[in-house]
Amino acid sequence: MQTKMLINGELVEGAGEALPTLDPATGAELARVSEASSEQVEAAVRTSEEAFASYSQSTPMDRATLLLQIADVIEQNSQELAELESQDVGKPWPSAHDDEMPLTIDVFRFFAGAARTMMGSAAGEYVAGHTSMIRRDPVGPVAAIAPWNYPLMMASWKLAAPLAAGCSVVLKPSEITPLSTLRMAELLQDVVPKGVMNVIHGRGPSIGDQLINSPQMEAISVTGSPATGMAAMRAASNQIRHVHLELGGKAPVIVFDDADIETVAETIRYGSYFNAGQDCAQPCRVLVQDRAYDKLVAAITDQVGQIQIGAQKAEGTEMGPLVSSDQRDRVAGFVARARGSAEIVAGGNAGEGNGFFYQPTVVANVDNNAEIACNEVFGPVVTISRFKDAEDALRIANAGSYGLASSVWTNNVGLAMQMTSRLRYGFTWVNTHGVGTPEMPWAAMKGSGTGCDMSVYALDAYTAIRHVMLAH
Ligand code: NAD
Repeated sequence: MQTKMLINGELVEGAGEALPTLDPATGAELARVSEASSEQVEAAVRTSEEAFASYSQSTPMDRATLLLQIADVIEQNSQELAELESQDVGKPWPSAHDDEMPLTIDVFRFFAGAARTMMGSAAGEYVAGHTSMIRRDPVGPVAAIAPWNYPLMMASWKLAAPLAAGCSVVLKPSEITPLSTLRMAELLQDVVPKGVMNVIHGRGPSIGDQLINSPQMEAISVTGSPATGMAAMRAASNQIRHVHLELGGKAPVIVFDDADIETVAETIRYGSYFNAGQDCAQPCRVLVQDRAYDKLVAAITDQVGQIQIGAQKAEGTEMGPLVSSDQRDRVAGFVARARGSAEIVAGGNAGEGNGFFYQPTVVANVDNNAEIACNEVFGPVVTISRFKDAEDALRIANAGSYGLASSVWTNNVGLAMQMTSRLRYGFTWVNTHGVGTPEMPWAAMKGSGTGCDMSVYALDAYTAIRHVMLAH
């Protein structure tokens, strides 16, 4: 198994502590991966600064060619990469391959095109006798921090946009799930110019902290929890750096009386328990209008009761384990604390064996201010609460600190448009939930972050807008 980091085009064993990475379905050790030493972080940072000098001068066509090559290499090795991902995170096979690899690859292909289509205001004589023009130049070396829920897909989001913009990157995957990213680094060793892409391994509060506080890093890009986002903002404030954050979510699913209840329930079955619910856009907070409440609770309970949980490659597995025992304990804690005041209508218990399984769980009759209704659980748990009318739904949904994903379910187009205009979320689906595409932003508001991943707007985080004026 490939456990080396990529620094300055060389594969190097970490010189720090060896951290175990576990198979979540059994708890067995898959590999030990050594963390970077402080000197190795320094080397990665230094080399990315050196590589920036030349890479930032590459043409958009050069960068597009590179991104297309990266996509091809990942595609040629997608089976192996998805195997690693499935083992390391506990994702059901073949979902790890069929559901996640296409978007992981396509993000590189999309940004190959985006690299060649930078936009800005027209050049012109805004002051008589002076020609002004806009430049969008790469912002500098980027410190990129990725989470454990979709390790390779999140690595692709963290890499493709800055590489398209002309930035070098030092990427740190999650210490819990480094295997697919380290193998991708090995596969790309001879594809990406030396030092343009570096991958280091280690824990957040030490190795991640050193990386985001390194003076050579001109931008910090994090996908992770709000706590890590705050650490990134503190680091950025010390040195006045660009900061781009994609953080947690608590997606409301607002279901009006006239919605297609069966479709909502099927969407919950597929979307809320996909990746064992460890998804920032997970449809996890169902808000249902009074008259449809009983019917929707029954339909969701029925659908969720059919979900088959099991190990990655067990026949028929729809949902695997959680990523770690800590994550399972966190989820179990939320459900245990909700028990007294709400109704557990499905699941509610840990699975059997040494793996980190937790049953697909539905908690109904949840007070809209309850802890489990307002905080990100990040596991296979859905809450169901009631609302009276559109104003009530908006008040409940907009009250929290999160602002990532949301959905509205109704056949009334006017009502849907009113709701989408007033929901304070980076993205809102109508009569669906969870469908993503690289052309459109994965955008954050409020405590869920700043800016977006995917789409041409993601380039904003990695380019500096500059004005050049010429007197004549
Ligand atoms: P996490 O914040 O614990 O870890 C994410 C990464 O940050 C890891 O690589 C970790 O090592 C690093 N890190 C932790 N502390 C750090 C520090 N002080 N300095 C630098 N780096 C540090 O998050 P997680 O548990 O891996 O992922 C789950 C979270 O990620 C959830 O909140 C989820 O909603 C969020 N997420 C958001 C999106 C999105 O697009 N908005 C996508 C996926 C996951």
